[in-house]
Amino acid sequence: MDIIKKTWYFRTVRARITFSFAVLLLMVHLLALLIMDTVLSYSNEVLPLNVESSLGGEWLNKSFQEFLKSLSHWHNLVLIFGSISFTCALFVSAWIAKGVAQPIRVLVDYAKSIQYGDYSKQLTLNRGDEMGQLGDVLQTMSDSIAKRESKLNELVNYDALTGLPNRNLFQDRLDQAIKVAKRGGYPMAVMIMDLNRFKEVNDILGHSYGDLLLKEVAKRLQTIVLREYDTVARLGGDEFVLLLATNMEGAKIVANKLLSVIDQSIELQGQEVIVTASIGISCFPEHTAKPKELLQYAELAMYSAKNSHTGFALFDSVHNAQDQQYLSLLAELRRAVLNNELVLYYQPKLELSTGKISHAEALVRWIHPERGLVPPMEFIPFAENTGFIRTITLWVIERSLRQQKELQAAGVALIVSINISAQDLFIPKFPTLFAELLEKYDIAAEYLVLEITESAIMSDLQSALGILNEIYDMGLRLSIDDFGTGYSSLAYLKKLPVSELKIDRSFIKNMETDRDDNMIVHSTIDLAHNMGLKVVAEGVENAATWSGLEELGCDFLQGYAISPPVPLPTFLNWVKESPWQLNQVA
Ligand code: C2E
Ligand code: CA
Ligand code: CA
Repeated sequence: MDIIKKTWYFRTVRARITFSFAVLLLMVHLLALLIMDTVLSYSNEVLPLNVESSLGGEWLNKSFQEFLKSLSHWHNLVLIFGSISFTCALFVSAWIAKGVAQPIRVLVDYAKSIQYGDYSKQLTLNRGDEMGQLGDVLQTMSDSIAKRESKLNELVNYDALTGLPNRNLFQDRLDQAIKVAKRGGYPMAVMIMDLNRFKEVNDILGHSYGDLLLKEVAKRLQTIVLREYDTVARLGGDEFVLLLATNMEGAKIVANKLLSVIDQSIELQGQEVIVTASIGISCFPEHTAKPKELLQYAELAMYSAKNSHTGFALFDSVHNAQDQQYLSLLAELRRAVLNNELVLYYQPKLELSTGKISHAEALVRWIHPERGLVPPMEFIPFAENTGFIRTITLWVIERSLRQQKELQAAGVALIVSINISAQDLFIPKFPTLFAELLEKYDIAAEYLVLEITESAIMSDLQSALGILNEIYDMGLRLSIDDFGTGYSSLAYLKKLPVSELKIDRSFIKNMETDRDDNMIVHSTIDLAHNMGLKVVAEGVENAATWSGLEELGCDFLQGYAISPPVPLPTFLNWVKESPWQLNQVA
């Protein structure tokens, strides 16, 4: 398609210059002719009478007649010469104009190509004058725009670590491929692959090894998928996705091949690592014709392969029934947030040094219209797997701040802990968002504690550290939840801006009967105190544990022995009737 609009010839620079020159020349000639004509006619009519009557007129008359004759001769010459030169001028000026206007035309065409996003053209002016310089500038400009555009395209569509297409580009290719497959009646398969022990590599060997591993896996995947219409992409983390122009049987063969290349040991800077993978497969047209569902189904099949340790699993009708439940759970959760079906329960923490209920943990509950009260373990892990946790966390933050405002209006000073999942830390501008909410509800940051599990922090320690430091600088306190269950190391504990450790209830539960658990609790309390941290024991269910923890110098107790989590009004009534008191706002 010709994208350059045609310009009417008489509006071009070339035409304008040509005609200006020619017209100018014509006018000069006409002026000369006009002057001569005027002199000639004046001499014929007026001059002879006057000249003859004057003294010595004869001599004058003679020389004047000669002058007029030559003038008439010149008049004719001018007429002939004028016509010839006008014609020549037309050609010459057209030729000059062409020399000026053509490079402009080329530059305009070139600039228009840039305007329409075509940076492939090369400008060939080969001139040393200003036009040439302008051309060079345009060419450089076009080259750098092209470079920036391709960089941007890379950032938007490719994964920086492995160089593979990212989710964005994969989604595009999947959409296109399904359109073509529908038209041509070809089968397609989508395969999601997740590494089984990637987290361990990351946690134990460190992030740089994790990155090396991912790069190696990407390389191995590419050796299997060689066909032109196939795509390998990285969805994020240790999750890869493949789009294959093949049927169900072909997909199974590829899955087996993939498992065998991934299973081979990988050497990472002298360390030998063996990872395994779980693969989920969904097929067009057997399972669905919708690209989005193909991805969802492959993911569900992948989880099933992971749970059943089968290596790979095909999405099938059995999945379908069970996984449709999963899909509808997601839809239901969305509705739950919109319809305010979620509520916060509060569980008190008793401060042993003051004997006051100075703190509480906010725990989410789902009051389902049909199923009644749904405990968090039935939807939080699912929300974490589907990314929906971010929505829930934002809801929890807002709700707890609103209730904090109500508490403070009633004169109650209660420091409330909320639970934050790993993914929450990576909500864009999470600390800023938090600061804005604190300001909106006019709540001082000291009234909030964020509980984060060790594994959440360890999943991306470097990034988490930056965000946690920002949160800490805002005045929010951080607590390490379920302490003792993750990959704790004193080295990283020292780096974290935390003020509290919560010993996991699995150690508290048997500490009175199990010597190992008792020792873990004992040394954790000592360790925390030596590092200037407060200690919370969670899951305190009986008096023996309670007094044991008191003896070990634990700072806070939380558990059914004090109170289970309850709605806020119940919580406030309960304190009134309990032997303990709340702090009052100063
Ligand atoms: P968690 O953060 O470790 O919360 C403490 C859990 O221990 C709560 O379970 C609480 O009810 C339970 N618990 C408290 N005292 C006792 C006791 O004496 N004995 C026993 N056996 N259990 C006790 P819940 O409320 O069912 O929450 C379970 C988990 O769900 C929480 O564990 C937390 O990881 C997650 N969760 C709850 N609410 C939220 C939330 O708002 N956001 C996020 N991200 N996670 C939440
Ligand atoms: Ca917690
Ligand atoms: Ca906990």
